[in-house]
Amino acid sequence: MREFEYYSPNNLDEALSFLGDKSEGVYLIAGGTDIMLELHNKFIQPEVIVNLKRLNELNYITEDDEYVRIGANTTFSTIEKNDIILRNARALAQASSKVGSTQIRNLGTIGGNIVTGSACGDSVSALVAMDAVLVIKSAVGKREVSLENFYKPNPEPRYDGCYINLAGIARDEILCEIYFKRAAPKEYSAFRKLGKRKALAKSIITVGIRMAFDDDNRVSNCRIALGAVGRHPYSVTSAEQIVEGKKMTDDVIEACVNEVSDVVYNNIRDRASCPFKKESVKELTREVINSILGYKSYKEVE
Ligand SMILES: Cc1cc2nc3c(=O)[nH]c(=O)nc-3n(C[C@H](O)[C@H](O)[C@H](O)COP(=O)(O)OP(=O)(O)OC[C@H]3O[C@@H](n4cnc5c(N)ncnc54)[C@H](O)[C@@H]3O)c2cc1C
Repeated sequence: MREFEYYSPNNLDEALSFLGDKSEGVYLIAGGTDIMLELHNKFIQPEVIVNLKRLNELNYITEDDEYVRIGANTTFSTIEKNDIILRNARALAQASSKVGSTQIRNLGTIGGNIVTGSACGDSVSALVAMDAVLVIKSAVGKREVSLENFYKPNPEPRYDGCYINLAGIARDEILCEIYFKRAAPKEYSAFRKLGKRKALAKSIITVGIRMAFDDDNRVSNCRIALGAVGRHPYSVTSAEQIVEGKKMTDDVIEACVNEVSDVVYNNIRDRASCPFKKESVKELTREVINSILGYKSYKEVE
């Protein structure tokens, strides 16, 4: 491994001004669970590594009247148990609890999961279902971007065969916060992941869904997000339109599930995994919808 300089800023301002002065060859490290593998495999050859670990101002979960806000340095162990997340974004709590092992969840951060850009990052499909927005800062200012528009597909596979996306973040920027709307009354979400048994790393399919209901039990708003079935996680607008304005009868669920499967087929039809994934995604989507309906019934009698 080539020698590199190591810098551990005490706060965000220090980190941003360092990056502003020195952007080439600089890599950020948060939990290190992804980037250490990239270093080990010589996939990256940094000149400087900047450790974000001491930036405590990026480690929080808060809610105000409108939004839930998560600092980019927050670990999955914190997110999966957090009361604000459990109340407002059950899908994200469930996704966080499925990331790797306890050791990985204790180190791995939500910011790292997003910026690393894997098509199968567990938190990402849950966050797309929440319509999450990213707050990104540099020494010269701040910008916001919707998570769904954050990635650009990379045509080349990575050293491990994974299609890593080109995250829309510059070398002198830091992802600081992820925020999304608080759950409205009668709004629920859920997440499921299909992964290899006994394997820790890659998800085969992830599904995150958020649904809001009106007083007549019709779906007033829906977001269906998929991961690992395309170059990056995405939402399935055509399937959302099938359920919006309807009661979730068996026929509506079947129509929705079949549409999700058709979209997956169209996105990955050239892949060997397509026949398996287009069928499996149906079961997973059905499971997530049933989980939301079950949870809704439970909350109504609570
Ligand atoms: C054994 C194992 C199992 C795993 N299992 C899963 C799994 O089940 N599901 C899953 O989704 N992932 C899994 N992962 C991947 C990894 O743990 C997650 O992606 C994790 O969230 C990465 O976070 P981190 O803090 O460790 O990121 P790091 O490795 O520190 O950084 C990852 C990337 O993000 C950048 N970065 C980090 N923070 C910021 C920031 N605030 N602003 C800008 N750039 C930033 C870094 O520069 C780097 O490019 C696994 C990894 C391992 C080794």
